[in-house]
Amino acid sequence: MAIIGKDIKQAIDVLMAGDVLGLPTETVYGLAGNAYNIKAITKIFTVKNRPTFDPLIVHTSSLERVHEFVREIPEQAQLLAKHFMPGPLTLLLPKKEIISDLVTSGLDMVAVRIPNHPLALELLINLDFPLSAPSANPFGYISPTSAHHVDNQLGDKINYILDGGECKVGIESSIIGFFDGEIVVLRKGGLAIEEIEAIVGKVRIEEHSSSNPKAPGMLKSHYAPRTKLLFAADLLLLEEDTQKIGYLGFDKIHPNISLENQLLLSRTGDLSEAAKNLFAYMRLLDARGFDKIFTELLPEKGLGRAINDRIKRATTKE
Ligand code: AMP
Ligand code: MG
Repeated sequence: MAIIGKDIKQAIDVLMAGDVLGLPTETVYGLAGNAYNIKAITKIFTVKNRPTFDPLIVHTSSLERVHEFVREIPEQAQLLAKHFMPGPLTLLLPKKEIISDLVTSGLDMVAVRIPNHPLALELLINLDFPLSAPSANPFGYISPTSAHHVDNQLGDKINYILDGGECKVGIESSIIGFFDGEIVVLRKGGLAIEEIEAIVGKVRIEEHSSSNPKAPGMLKSHYAPRTKLLFAADLLLLEEDTQKIGYLGFDKIHPNISLENQLLLSRTGDLSEAAKNLFAYMRLLDARGFDKIFTELLPEKGLGRAINDRIKRATTKE
């Protein structure tokens, strides 16, 4: 098991030695290493069992420091940065040579984020290199939103997890690219499209696909529990033994499933609360040994869009 603590000095020592650690952010926990150190980057891929065609987001503490490893920041990107950084926003920007092709899977663009978490920022401010940090989970499984989640799955492969409590946003960042003057959302995430459009006007949403070279790693099946997750609409409940069925709902109890097998993402229908609970509740239900878990889509607005994207990818494809 890894050491779970709040010791920034220890975290700095681990990273300076070229090793990796669990990093709290407001979106999900990251598996972080020196973005300029090939040994650290390689370890990130190995620990996560992540294919190298899935590039890593680079984290830093301020927009000024982004210039250390990015050639230029388009005007629209600067505008978004001014409003939402630090925050759950990742911008794709042209990389300088100092960023290895291993970080970007050979692409000319690097994904950049400034996490809005006091411990993460304190750590980044005290380092003279940025941190590559994908989510700290085995590739394809549910992302971690607490230090304990990270320890459960990667504790035997890493030595230190910086404990920053439960993630306040709970889903990954929104990823935005700028292509020929067009603003494109490549991953719906913790910053709602409506908030982005209020600043820069209409954006295009590029639907996820594993064959989309602009958004590698956006695989159709992702964020998934081990137990089969299915939409409740698919279900002929009368034929099922409902004791063996879990339910992940939004704000309403399912009338045909045992009450103690149900978790509601937000009883008051609050989409931010639902995002914060999503991955933790998937894990809780996954641990209960059900035959199947049924779920529903949320309203397709605000953070509901990013939550639905995660739920669709997590459901079992048959
Ligand atoms: P994660 O850090 O696990 O949330 O995943 C990072 C995701 O960001 C990847 O799966 C890609 O979809 C996206 N990404 C990271 N770097 C790039 C890049 N250089 N170009 C396009 N997408 C990227
Ligand atoms: Mg991930």
